Amino acid sequence: PRPPVVTVMGHVDHGKTSLLDAIRKTKVAEGEAGGITQHIGAYSVSVAGRGTITFLDTPGHAAFTEMRARGAQVTDIVILVVAADDGVMPQTEEAVRHAQAAEVPIIVAVNKIDRPDANVDRISQQLSKLGLMSEAWGGETLFVQTSAPKREGIDQLLDAILLQAEMLELTASEEGHATGTVVEAKLDRGRGPVATILVQNGVLKRGAPIVVGECSGKIRAMTDHVGRDIKQAGPSSAVEITGLDGVPDAGDKFNAVEDAEAARDIAQNRMSQRKAHEVTGSTRMSLDDLMKKMSAKEQLTLNLVIKADVQGSVEALRGAVEKLSTGEVKVHVLFSGVGGVKESDILLASASSGMIVAFGVRPDSNARAIGEREHVEIRSYSIIYELLDDVRRAMQGLLKPESREKIVGHAEIRELS
Ligand code: GDP
Repeated sequence: PRPPVVTVMGHVDHGKTSLLDAIRKTKVAEGEAGGITQHIGAYSVSVAGRGTITFLDTPGHAAFTEMRARGAQVTDIVILVVAADDGVMPQTEEAVRHAQAAEVPIIVAVNKIDRPDANVDRISQQLSKLGLMSEAWGGETLFVQTSAPKREGIDQLLDAILLQAEMLELTASEEGHATGTVVEAKLDRGRGPVATILVQNGVLKRGAPIVVGECSGKIRAMTDHVGRDIKQAGPSSAVEITGLDGVPDAGDKFNAVEDAEAARDIAQNRMSQRKAHEVTGSTRMSLDDLMKKMSAKEQLTLNLVIKADVQGSVEALRGAVEKLSTGEVKVHVLFSGVGGVKESDILLASASSGMIVAFGVRPDSNARAIGEREHVEIRSYSIIYELLDDVRRAMQGLLKPESREKIVGHAEIRELS
């Protein structure tokens, strides 16, 4: 068994940072020499007699989805923070959609319950509309009430995380070469490239040759979240390493390997592959290329993000495209909402290999640029049936071409000249 890795999400100002601080202050300092937590992008919390939890310290769904868009799914459980005096807000809903698209279970932290106008029932009701039904209401989602400044509900929240983790039966092996993912990385003036990495399998040892994305090196120093030098790190632990020859990207995978030369070769190989790929261009999710990508799956899914000018259009379009689903191809709406196409829409579509259909709205130039970078197709429409026609065409694009053999006659070869 390995500890769960947790990300905190929710609307701005609902208390994500405060909750992470409260957890860190009450738990990390307990019994740890020095006890001065360093910011290394992730930290571990031990719950006496029950286990350990690793928190990723970059709250918000942008980071989560950006990592996922790069193929890195590191989060096992999402904590959705909702302020009891404010209720479900646009970013709350976005966070729920992002977690659901990633199929990561959500635990709800109803925060700010110390506020006089806190209304917990209202939040349960609002969240039930997003598919999160609390246990008290007969559902399966764990809800915990918290107050970050009063440090209330912190133990219950940690208990809920460990309970959810038990149900997930998370495991990893301590055998074999260590692998994992970069959480964040930067160039430090004195120490050179510094990366916070999450070990996901195996045990990473100081001195090990390592490939990280397109970088390589030997681990010179390894420190934990309180700045202690450590010699090795097992599954689900986050550590800071130095010794790389470059700064990797968040979401890059790492592998410990046999020798430093192999590490360098692999990194160089990856770089030249990426360059070759950039020249030929990636083909993520253009209508015409969907088929190749997905023909291996049983029931195919076309993932869509819908953006429209008014709520009425959003609902009408969502209903209409979902009705297009057939036995062979399912239309799955990852997210639908009012307003222009934004960066978060593109990252969500990108992470699920989906496309964006916009009705009466357009992407701004920033969104357009990100769409191009992520190779996400964005199509704008002003006529509903044109939109539906295109979605139908995209679905057909997912289907395998059907080939039939029809025998029209037989012949015998008598002579070759
Ligand atoms: P974030 O944007 O989600 O990270 O929110 P912050 O953690 O920065 O919190 C926003 C504001 O709400 C800050 O002024 C916090 O002090 C306050 N806050 C956070 N949690 C609570 C809480 O449980 N109760 C009260 N009364 N205030 C809180």
